[in-house]
Amino acid sequence: MAADPDRPKTWRKWKKGLCDDCQAFCCRMPVEVTSGDLIRMGICGDFDIELGTKHILKTFKAEIKSFSKASEKYTLEQLSNRDCLYLDQNRRCSIYDRRPDTCRRHPLVGPRPGFCAYEKKI
Ligand code: SF4
Ligand code: SF4
Repeated sequence: MAADPDRPKTWRKWKKGLCDDCQAFCCRMPVEVTSGDLIRMGICGDFDIELGTKHILKTFKAEIKSFSKASEKYTLEQLSNRDCLYLDQNRRCSIYDRRPDTCRRHPLVGPRPGFCAYEKKI
């Protein structure tokens, strides 16, 4: 049964193998990325970063939704069903080798580190 992503107390503790048969539901969560992530992902180049946040948000609005001054991170845009733009038809990451650090470290980072927001605790 599914957990409630808005209620961390319902989440299941992550363990090896939990993701094996999953349809990558966590790729529906907002993804925060750094400037370095944007370059590695191929969204923009060093020159764009030098031009600043306003330039980035205006030029790459199809890929980037917002910027947080507090965390100094951008949040990636999502599809209307909340899936990540980079999730392919087989629900695999199409930029796996270039994916953001947040995705590399998931679920060890986030609102409840070490827990999956989509598998209900047992
Ligand atoms: S962390 Fe949870 S939602 Fe994400 S792939 Fe693993 S089991 Fe699925
Ligand atoms: S970049 Fe890849 S791993 Fe990260 S949320 Fe998008 S599809 Fe998932």
